[in-house]
This record gives sequence, structure tokens and C-alpha cells, in this order.
Amino acid sequence: MSVQAPTNTSGLTGLQHIDLVERCAAHNYHPLPVVVSQADGVWVEDADGKRYMDMLAAYSAVNFGHCNAELVAVAKEQLERVTLTSRAFHNDQLGPLCEQLAELCGMEAILPMNTGAEGVETAIKTARKWGYTIKGVPAGKAKIICCNDNFHGRTTTIVSFSTDTQCREGFGPFTPGFEIIEYGNIDALRNAIDDNTVAFLVEPIQGEAGIIVPPPGYLKQVRDLCSEKNILFIADEIQSGLGRCGATFCCRTENVQPDVFILGKALGGGIMPVSAVVSSREILSVFTPGDHGSTFGGNPLACAVARKVVEILKTDKYQSNARELGEYLFPRLHAIKTEKVKEIRGRGLWVGIEFRPSAGKARDYCERLMNEGMLCKDTHEQTMRLAPPLCITRDELDWAINKLEKVLV
Ligand SMILES: *Cc1c(COP(=O)(O)O)cnc(C)c1O
Repeated sequence: MSVQAPTNTSGLTGLQHIDLVERCAAHNYHPLPVVVSQADGVWVEDADGKRYMDMLAAYSAVNFGHCNAELVAVAKEQLERVTLTSRAFHNDQLGPLCEQLAELCGMEAILPMNTGAEGVETAIKTARKWGYTIKGVPAGKAKIICCNDNFHGRTTTIVSFSTDTQCREGFGPFTPGFEIIEYGNIDALRNAIDDNTVAFLVEPIQGEAGIIVPPPGYLKQVRDLCSEKNILFIADEIQSGLGRCGATFCCRTENVQPDVFILGKALGGGIMPVSAVVSSREILSVFTPGDHGSTFGGNPLACAVARKVVEILKTDKYQSNARELGEYLFPRLHAIKTEKVKEIRGRGLWVGIEFRPSAGKARDYCERLMNEGMLCKDTHEQTMRLAPPLCITRDELDWAINKLEKVLV
């Protein structure tokens, strides 16, 4: 069979684009059949000129809106100066980002990487080495505790502690050194901690699991227990952080400071993959030259964009919009809830709508919403998640609520 790829892809219809992906890309995704070719704020336009409201925001990577003018301007400016040096040399964007991001986090130092999964891998290496060199755990014995239904990324080590069979099947053998406990259960954490435990890795709200909010006070209890037992509290705020929950960090909605933040997604402003592990100088001092790194980690283009992201977050503009519109949204959603809906969960502008099995799959509702001009995504069969860009206005939110009301009857 011969495969012909057209040399000119500019004049293709949406269906032709989808066909190309079907033929020439690995089938590791099952996207909705919409081909985005332009975007602005909360709106995207497909290859055939149809407009949609984006109620997913690239899983919160586009928190500040598509093609955010401030972020695009900084990226363009940096593109023409210098984009990549590798860490073999210094660049004039990395130092300022480290200082500004550490300050935003109430921390002292950062280790920059690119994707979220790399950030998580980096946090795992940090915790293990901290365990051996500072806590005094015997070599090769470090244990990290994680939760059921977690999502921390897709590398071989990270899927080793996933409880989702599809994430693991066919990818073994797996990395040892992890124990899985029930999410939201502080007694389970207390029982799991032993002398060799170095860290508890947790999402403050579980995103991919379906916007699962732990019981009130859980994060505070985690904080206290980790301090008492001398283990690192690692908050994976890759999706929950940077405005989504109506605060700079989800942990701050409960006035809790972890030992380590893992950040990603929105840190790159929807432009670049930028992730970081943010912690104290002491904890990050476990790394010495040659221990760990990344060719693109800390590149000047990524750092310039991330610096602007930090600057934007310091204004509280997007966090306060998520907070205020979140307070408006949840009562409205409860008001249009029908017997099809089992539960509505979330915080800020982050919503999971779980459908009863008798009401069909969440994917069906996402497809109907797509036909209505609204894009969102199902997770774990029964849950639809909403996570609009945080620049959304009340009128736009009303528009989305009306569309939802239409498909929930
Ligand atoms: C998306 C996500 C990751 C992985 O990030 P990638 O950039 O896709 O590697 C890790 N943790 C959480 C909580 C996430 O939502």
C-alpha cells in the first residue's frame, strides 16, 4: 500500500485534515471531529470557518486565553532575540524567571523542564535523592506514596503508579518504589508512611479523574502529617494551579504550602511547553552538575513567556475572574441539573459533570455540545469536564450554560 501525503495542506477541508491524521498519525487519541485553525480568547474557528467556544482550554494550558496578546508579544520579541542556548551556557531569561516564579510560589528555587511529565519525573528524582542524602533512607529503599485514580503523566515511571489499567497495559515492566492509597483519606496516608517514605505525591484536586475534590481540610491534614513524619508534600498543581481554581494555587484555597510544587500547562501560556519543580533551596540542593537536565529546559523563549505568565498572575486578574465567575457558575449549574446528572463538582472555573450510567456516556454529550458550537471533553466515560479560558466573561458563560441546559434536558 502506498501512502501519499499531499505537499500542500493549506486548502484542505476539515474532513481531509482528519483523514490525514487517521492515516499518518498514531491513534493514541480519540479527538472530537473538529479541526481548529484559528483561535482568540475563548473562541476557536475550524478549518471550514465554524466558530466554537473552547470550554477545555487545552486541559488548562490556555488559562489566559488563546493568542493572549501580552504573551504573544513577549514570545515574538524573544523569538527574534534568542530562543535556545541549552544549559551549557547561561541565558538572560532564566535567572529572572527563577527568582520571579519562586517568589510567586513562596519558595526559594526552581528546576525548569518542559512537559508536565518531566516535571513530575524531576520531583520524583528530587524526593528520592532528598531521601538518601538528607533524610538518611538506605540506598535503593525510598518509597513515594501516591493516590488511586491519580494522573501525573505518561512516562514509563509515572504509569508505573497509575491505577488506570489502560495507561499501563502493554507498557511494563514498571518502576518500583511507589505505594498507592485512597485519595482524600488521611488515615490511609498515616498508615502507609514508614521509615523509608520520602514523599507524598498528590493532586490538590484530581483533574483527569473527573475533577475530584478531596474532603475539606484534607490538604491541611496532609501538610501536618508530612511535617510530623518528615516526608515531602509534593503538590502536582500542573492542572489545578495558576488560576484554574480561583487562586494562584489550589493549595492556597486551603492556606496550605507544600514542600514542592510541580507546575506546567498554563506556565507556558499556551505557547510553549514549560514546567518546573519549585521548592526550597535546601531540597533542590540535592542536585549537582550532571545529575539531571534537559536540552530545552530553561530555554530563553520558554522563560520569557513564563516570566510574563508570572507577571500576569501577580495581578490576580485571572484568579479573581475564576473565583467570581465560579461562584456564579455552580449555582446556575445546579439549577439546570436534571435526573441525567449524578453529581456536579469543582472549584473556580473547573467543573466535572458526572452523568448517571442510564443517561449514556459523557462523550455523547460532548458531541452534542460540539454541534451546538461548544467544545469540552469527557473523562472516565461518565464525566464531562469544563475548564474555559479564565478570560471568559459572564455573558460568554451564560451562553455556555444555555447550551448545556439544552443538552441536559
Ligand atoms: C497534564 C498533567 C500532567 C502531565 O503533563 P504533560 O505536559 O501532559 O506531560 C501531570 N500532572 C497533572 C496533574 C496533569 O494534569
